[in-house]
Amino acid sequence: MKANYHTHTYRCNHASGTDREYVEYAIQRGIEVLGFSDHSPYCFPDGYYSGFRMTHEQQKEYVESIEALKDEFSGKIKLYIGYEMEYYPEYVDKTVELIKSRKCDYLILGQHYRKTEIGQSSSSTPTESESDLSDYVESVISAIKSGLFFYIAHPDVMNYKGDIDIYREYMTRICQCAKEHDTPLEINLLGLREGRFYPVDEFWRIAAKVGNKAIFGCDAHRPCDVAEEEGIMLGKKYADKFGIEVIEPMQPRFLK
Ligand SMILES: [Zn+2]
Ligand SMILES: [Zn+2]
Repeated sequence: MKANYHTHTYRCNHASGTDREYVEYAIQRGIEVLGFSDHSPYCFPDGYYSGFRMTHEQQKEYVESIEALKDEFSGKIKLYIGYEMEYYPEYVDKTVELIKSRKCDYLILGQHYRKTEIGQSSSSTPTESESDLSDYVESVISAIKSGLFFYIAHPDVMNYKGDIDIYREYMTRICQCAKEHDTPLEINLLGLREGRFYPVDEFWRIAAKVGNKAIFGCDAHRPCDVAEEEGIMLGKKYADKFGIEVIEPMQPRFLK
Protein backbone atom coordinates (compact mmCIF):
# COMPACT_ATOMS: atom_id res chain seq x y z
CA MET A 1 0.00 0.00 0.00
CA LYS A 2 1.40 3.35 -1.09
CA ALA A 3 -1.52 5.68 -0.32
CA ASN A 4 -4.23 5.83 2.33
CA TYR A 5 -6.80 8.61 2.49
CA HIS A 6 -8.93 7.39 5.39
CA THR A 7 -7.23 8.41 8.63
CA HIS A 8 -8.82 9.75 11.81
CA THR A 9 -7.45 11.67 14.80
CA TYR A 10 -8.29 11.85 18.50
CA ARG A 11 -10.47 14.91 17.80
CA CYS A 12 -13.47 12.75 16.87
CA ASN A 13 -13.57 11.35 20.42
CA HIS A 14 -13.32 7.70 19.33
CA ALA A 15 -9.78 7.53 17.92
CA SER A 16 -6.46 7.50 19.75
CA GLY A 17 -2.85 8.54 19.32
CA THR A 18 -1.22 11.76 18.21
CA ASP A 19 -1.25 13.05 14.63
CA ARG A 20 2.50 12.52 14.51
CA GLU A 21 2.14 8.84 15.43
CA TYR A 22 -0.15 8.23 12.43
CA VAL A 23 2.51 9.77 10.19
CA GLU A 24 5.30 7.77 11.81
CA TYR A 25 3.45 4.48 11.35
CA ALA A 26 2.71 5.38 7.74
CA ILE A 27 6.39 6.07 6.99
CA GLN A 28 7.48 2.93 8.78
CA ARG A 29 5.12 0.86 6.64
CA GLY A 30 6.15 2.35 3.34
CA ILE A 31 3.19 4.67 2.77
CA GLU A 32 4.09 7.55 0.43
CA VAL A 33 0.82 9.47 0.60
CA LEU A 34 -1.23 9.86 3.77
CA GLY A 35 -4.49 11.75 3.83
CA PHE A 36 -6.05 12.75 7.13
CA SER A 37 -9.84 12.55 6.94
CA ASP A 38 -11.16 13.00 10.44
CA HIS A 39 -14.91 13.27 11.00
CA SER A 40 -15.68 16.83 9.94
CA PRO A 41 -17.32 19.47 12.09
CA TYR A 42 -20.93 19.85 10.96
CA CYS A 43 -23.29 22.82 10.84
CA PHE A 44 -26.37 21.61 12.67
CA PRO A 45 -29.08 23.90 13.98
CA ASP A 46 -28.19 25.68 17.20
CA GLY A 47 -27.60 23.63 20.25
CA TYR A 48 -27.18 20.19 18.68
CA TYR A 49 -23.97 18.48 19.74
CA SER A 50 -22.62 15.60 17.69
CA GLY A 51 -20.23 13.49 19.75
CA PHE A 52 -18.32 11.63 17.03
CA ARG A 53 -16.72 14.52 15.17
CA MET A 54 -14.39 17.42 15.84
CA THR A 55 -15.94 20.67 16.98
CA HIS A 56 -15.91 23.84 14.89
CA GLU A 57 -13.31 25.21 17.27
CA GLN A 58 -10.95 22.29 16.65
CA GLN A 59 -10.87 22.72 12.88
CA LYS A 60 -8.20 25.44 12.94
CA GLU A 61 -5.86 23.44 15.15
CA TYR A 62 -6.43 20.26 13.06
CA VAL A 63 -5.32 22.05 9.91
CA GLU A 64 -2.36 23.69 11.64
CA SER A 65 -1.23 20.41 13.13
CA ILE A 66 -1.14 18.66 9.74
CA GLU A 67 0.54 21.66 8.10
CA ALA A 68 3.28 21.50 10.71
CA LEU A 69 3.74 17.76 10.13
CA LYS A 70 3.93 18.40 6.38
CA ASP A 71 6.93 20.65 6.96
CA GLU A 72 8.53 18.36 9.47
CA PHE A 73 8.26 15.23 7.32
CA SER A 74 8.67 16.82 3.91
CA GLY A 75 10.66 14.57 1.60
CA LYS A 76 9.63 11.52 3.62
CA ILE A 77 5.88 11.44 3.01
CA LYS A 78 3.22 13.49 1.26
CA LEU A 79 0.39 14.58 3.58
CA TYR A 80 -3.07 15.84 2.64
CA ILE A 81 -5.74 17.55 4.71
CA GLY A 82 -9.21 16.11 4.29
CA TYR A 83 -12.39 15.19 6.09
CA GLU A 84 -14.84 12.34 6.17
CA MET A 85 -18.23 13.95 5.90
CA GLU A 86 -21.90 13.03 5.58
CA TYR A 87 -24.21 14.49 2.98
CA TYR A 88 -27.16 15.80 4.97
CA PRO A 89 -29.19 17.75 2.37
CA GLU A 90 -30.40 20.42 4.79
CA TYR A 91 -27.01 21.30 6.29
CA VAL A 92 -24.38 20.28 3.76
CA ASP A 93 -23.94 23.61 1.96
CA LYS A 94 -23.21 25.53 5.14
CA THR A 95 -20.87 22.80 6.28
CA VAL A 96 -18.88 22.83 3.04
CA GLU A 97 -18.56 26.59 3.41
CA LEU A 98 -17.15 26.08 6.90
CA ILE A 99 -14.72 23.40 5.68
CA LYS A 100 -13.51 25.66 2.88
CA SER A 101 -12.86 28.52 5.28
CA ARG A 102 -9.54 26.78 6.05
CA LYS A 103 -7.25 24.65 3.95
CA CYS A 104 -8.89 21.44 2.75
CA ASP A 105 -7.54 19.20 -0.02
CA TYR A 106 -10.37 16.69 -0.30
CA LEU A 107 -13.52 15.15 1.18
CA ILE A 108 -14.61 11.54 1.38
CA LEU A 109 -18.25 10.68 1.94
CA GLY A 110 -19.11 8.57 4.99
CA GLN A 111 -22.91 8.45 5.15
CA HIS A 112 -23.18 7.31 8.77
CA TYR A 113 -26.81 8.49 8.98
CA ARG A 114 -29.31 8.70 6.15
CA LYS A 115 -30.53 12.31 5.98
CA THR A 116 -29.61 13.78 9.34
CA GLU A 117 -28.30 12.40 12.58
CA ILE A 118 -30.79 14.33 14.68
CA GLY A 119 -33.47 11.94 15.87
CA GLN A 120 -32.57 9.16 13.41
CA SER A 121 -30.97 5.77 13.80
CA SER A 122 -27.60 5.29 12.11
CA SER A 123 -27.17 3.75 8.66
CA SER A 124 -25.56 0.71 10.27
CA THR A 125 -28.59 -0.06 12.46
CA PRO A 126 -30.35 -3.08 10.92
CA THR A 127 -33.62 -2.14 9.22
CA GLU A 128 -36.15 -3.73 6.90
CA SER A 129 -37.62 -0.41 5.88
CA GLU A 130 -37.45 0.36 2.17
CA SER A 131 -37.92 4.03 2.93
CA ASP A 132 -34.76 3.99 5.10
CA LEU A 133 -32.86 2.34 2.27
CA SER A 134 -34.26 4.84 -0.19
CA ASP A 135 -33.21 7.79 2.02
CA TYR A 136 -29.68 6.45 2.26
CA VAL A 137 -29.38 5.89 -1.48
CA GLU A 138 -30.83 9.31 -2.28
CA SER A 139 -28.30 11.04 -0.03
CA VAL A 140 -25.36 9.10 -1.46
CA ILE A 141 -26.46 9.79 -5.03
CA SER A 142 -26.86 13.51 -4.30
CA ALA A 143 -23.39 13.45 -2.76
CA ILE A 144 -21.84 11.81 -5.81
CA LYS A 145 -23.59 14.24 -8.16
CA SER A 146 -22.42 17.22 -6.09
CA GLY A 147 -18.85 16.50 -7.19
CA LEU A 148 -17.61 17.36 -3.71
CA PHE A 149 -16.30 13.94 -2.83
CA PHE A 150 -13.10 12.20 -3.87
CA TYR A 151 -14.55 8.78 -3.02
CA ILE A 152 -17.31 7.01 -1.12
CA ALA A 153 -16.15 5.43 2.14
CA HIS A 154 -17.88 2.19 3.09
CA PRO A 155 -20.69 2.63 0.53
CA ASP A 156 -22.20 -0.54 1.99
CA VAL A 157 -22.61 0.83 5.55
CA MET A 158 -26.40 0.82 5.06
CA ASN A 159 -27.57 -2.25 6.96
CA TYR A 160 -30.72 -3.14 5.03
CA LYS A 161 -32.11 -6.52 6.06
CA GLY A 162 -35.21 -6.64 3.85
CA ASP A 163 -35.83 -8.12 0.41
CA ILE A 164 -32.63 -8.84 -1.51
CA ASP A 165 -34.10 -7.77 -4.85
CA ILE A 166 -34.97 -4.38 -3.40
CA TYR A 167 -31.42 -4.09 -2.02
CA ARG A 168 -30.01 -4.90 -5.46
CA GLU A 169 -32.22 -2.38 -7.20
CA TYR A 170 -31.22 0.50 -4.91
CA MET A 171 -27.54 -0.32 -4.63
CA THR A 172 -27.25 -0.70 -8.39
CA ARG A 173 -28.29 2.96 -8.59
CA ILE A 174 -25.40 3.99 -6.31
CA CYS A 175 -22.93 1.90 -8.31
CA GLN A 176 -24.12 3.23 -11.65
CA CYS A 177 -24.06 6.82 -10.46
CA ALA A 178 -20.55 6.38 -9.01
CA LYS A 179 -19.36 4.93 -12.30
CA GLU A 180 -20.89 7.73 -14.33
CA HIS A 181 -19.18 10.32 -12.15
CA ASP A 182 -15.90 8.44 -11.98
CA THR A 183 -16.11 8.22 -8.19
CA PRO A 184 -14.37 5.23 -6.63
CA LEU A 185 -15.96 3.12 -3.90
CA GLU A 186 -14.02 2.16 -0.81
CA ILE A 187 -13.38 -1.35 0.37
CA ASN A 188 -13.24 -0.57 4.07
CA LEU A 189 -10.32 -2.33 5.71
CA LEU A 190 -11.58 -1.55 9.22
CA GLY A 191 -14.73 -3.55 8.47
CA LEU A 192 -12.58 -6.46 7.27
CA ARG A 193 -10.12 -6.25 10.17
CA GLU A 194 -12.88 -6.25 12.76
CA GLY A 195 -15.26 -8.63 11.01
CA ARG A 196 -18.02 -6.02 10.83
CA PHE A 197 -21.11 -6.58 8.67
CA TYR A 198 -19.47 -4.52 5.90
CA PRO A 199 -18.02 -4.96 3.33
CA VAL A 200 -21.28 -6.55 2.15
CA ASP A 201 -20.77 -9.32 -0.42
CA GLU A 202 -23.98 -8.57 -2.29
CA PHE A 203 -22.97 -4.94 -2.69
CA TRP A 204 -19.61 -5.87 -4.23
CA ARG A 205 -21.21 -8.39 -6.56
CA ILE A 206 -23.24 -5.48 -7.92
CA ALA A 207 -20.19 -3.20 -8.09
CA ALA A 208 -18.28 -5.87 -10.01
CA LYS A 209 -21.14 -6.22 -12.48
CA VAL A 210 -21.45 -2.45 -12.96
CA GLY A 211 -17.66 -2.17 -13.27
CA ASN A 212 -16.87 0.17 -10.39
CA LYS A 213 -13.35 0.93 -9.28
CA ALA A 214 -12.40 0.48 -5.64
CA ILE A 215 -9.92 2.12 -3.27
CA PHE A 216 -8.69 0.57 -0.03
CA GLY A 217 -9.28 2.74 3.02
CA CYS A 218 -7.62 1.86 6.34
CA ASP A 219 -10.22 3.89 8.27
CA ALA A 220 -7.49 4.19 10.90
CA HIS A 221 -8.70 5.12 14.36
CA ARG A 222 -5.35 4.10 15.90
CA PRO A 223 -1.88 4.85 14.52
CA CYS A 224 -1.17 1.12 14.20
CA ASP A 225 -4.17 0.76 11.83
CA VAL A 226 -2.33 2.68 9.10
CA ALA A 227 -1.32 0.23 6.35
CA GLU A 228 -1.80 -2.63 8.77
CA GLU A 229 -0.69 -5.75 6.93
CA GLU A 230 -3.50 -8.16 7.69
CA GLY A 231 -6.14 -5.64 6.64
CA ILE A 232 -4.43 -5.09 3.29
CA MET A 233 -4.18 -8.83 2.72
CA LEU A 234 -7.87 -9.29 3.53
CA GLY A 235 -8.69 -6.39 1.21
CA LYS A 236 -6.79 -7.92 -1.69
CA LYS A 237 -8.47 -11.27 -1.16
CA TYR A 238 -11.84 -9.57 -0.98
CA ALA A 239 -11.35 -7.59 -4.20
CA ASP A 240 -10.07 -10.69 -6.01
CA LYS A 241 -13.04 -12.73 -4.89
CA PHE A 242 -15.37 -10.36 -6.76
CA GLY A 243 -13.00 -9.36 -9.56
CA ILE A 244 -12.98 -5.71 -8.48
CA GLU A 245 -10.29 -3.42 -9.83
CA VAL A 246 -8.52 -1.58 -7.01
CA ILE A 247 -6.87 1.72 -7.87
CA GLU A 248 -4.34 3.64 -5.83
CA PRO A 249 -4.23 7.28 -6.89
CA MET A 250 -1.19 9.15 -5.59
CA GLN A 251 -3.24 12.29 -5.08
CA PRO A 252 -6.87 12.86 -4.14
CA ARG A 253 -9.49 14.49 -6.33
CA PHE A 254 -9.12 17.99 -4.94
CA LEU A 255 -12.03 19.89 -3.46
CA LYS A 256 -12.71 22.86 -5.69
ZN1 LIG B 1 -14.85 7.03 13.11
ZN1 LIG C 1 -13.81 6.79 8.83
